[in-house]
Amino acid sequence: MRLRTYESFWLLKNGLLYSYPLLEKNIKPSIAVIGGGITGALISDALVEKHYSVVLLDKRDIGQGSTSATTSMLQYEIDTPLIDLADMVGEEGAAACYKEGVRAINELAGLVKKYRLKCDFEKKYSLYFAHNKTAARKLQREFEIRNKYKLGVQWLSPSKVKADYGLISEGAILSDTAASVDAYKLTHELIQRNIKKGMQVYDQTDITAMDFKGQKVKLTTAEGFNIICDKVIFCSGFESTEILKEKVADLFFTYASISEPGIKVKKRMKDTLVWNTADPYLYMRTTGEGRLIIGGEDTEKHVEAGQQKQKEKKAKKLQQKLEEILPGIHFIEDFSWAGTFGSTKDGLPYIGESPEYKNALFVLGFGGNGITFSVQGRKIITDLLAGKQNILAQFYRFGR
Ligand SMILES: Cc1cc2nc3c(=O)[nH]c(=O)nc-3n(C[C@H](O)[C@H](O)[C@H](O)COP(=O)(O)OP(=O)(O)OC[C@H]3O[C@@H](n4cnc5c(N)ncnc54)[C@H](O)[C@@H]3O)c2cc1C
Repeated sequence: MRLRTYESFWLLKNGLLYSYPLLEKNIKPSIAVIGGGITGALISDALVEKHYSVVLLDKRDIGQGSTSATTSMLQYEIDTPLIDLADMVGEEGAAACYKEGVRAINELAGLVKKYRLKCDFEKKYSLYFAHNKTAARKLQREFEIRNKYKLGVQWLSPSKVKADYGLISEGAILSDTAASVDAYKLTHELIQRNIKKGMQVYDQTDITAMDFKGQKVKLTTAEGFNIICDKVIFCSGFESTEILKEKVADLFFTYASISEPGIKVKKRMKDTLVWNTADPYLYMRTTGEGRLIIGGEDTEKHVEAGQQKQKEKKAKKLQQKLEEILPGIHFIEDFSWAGTFGSTKDGLPYIGESPEYKNALFVLGFGGNGITFSVQGRKIITDLLAGKQNILAQFYRFGR
């Protein structure tokens, strides 16, 4: 599956941070994590912390799947508004999912501090603005329910949004928990830390056969080597849809564009992630070097042919939309890219056991806040492995 176009910004910016070997022997770890993106890095870190013997495997180079294409906005907010999620899973359950997002961002902030990671993690605010009057009425109700569950929100009038952000809107919810990060760097930093603690990591190692019939799981690589383990944790991103009969997500393509450094925006824009109520939504955030990233313009079809042309067309469209809502912005594009994206029917991830695979767990953090979901997977997976109940697991289960 084509996960992204070649010019993903984080890969260009950071280059190849570390190299990892190809698996060229048979091994017997307790747990095999398939996927060396941000999800695999976060989950394997949680497993190493719990003293499991872990091997991490990726068929690409580490971090070169979706992880190098992400715009890395870390939000507690789910693509499905709380008010709609409440209709799907009940109000208490929906609020629990939203609150877990807040907890996950704080957990990641704690990890970055504890491990002294240099992954450009920054705590931010999140501004969710109404793109028209109808959306504003619904957003007001969304604000009320979030306020009821003490999610740290304020309502900003259109004039306040304009004064603070220079943005044209019909009002907005300002949330006090959000963050941004360089997910590609974070992935490598976590993996490097755990290699020092004994974790084995192999990239360019494609798992091409899997046998779940016995007591143990047998994975076989394209080179014919075997990994015999007790459990497999699939952190294999959007490609996981290819090995599941259950339809867990719709896949499409999404676009992003980044400005040259030093773009002039209001001060509040620098500490806030911004997104809107349009469908598909438009989003933006600044980086530490003073660039502005804009993203959105999702297309339903997975664009293979004419990808370059389509990407350029979409980057222009994103810029036009930005200029409409931020009059006077001088956005000079430095790079643009596109990547595969997935959304689930309720905006929630799939984390846990699938009835299709014995001795396996999945962490599929699909949606606009996939990384926040991957952080949540740390507790869910370690709880499930330890045979403990996890309240969130029921909302994120397969077959729901
Ligand atoms: C343009 C864009 C913007 C985005 N913006 C945001 C955002 O602002 N915030 C956010 O939270 N999320 C965002 N996302 C989503 C985010 O990128 C994903 O949620 C995240 O990168 C998923 O990480 P992952 O580790 O699960 O997947 P990946 O990084 O794709 O890693 C999965 C890995 O599994 C490996 N793999 C698959 N099958 C096998 C196999 N058989 N054998 C060995 N290895 C295998 C792959 O090679 C891959 O490296 C965005 C995505 C895109 C494309």
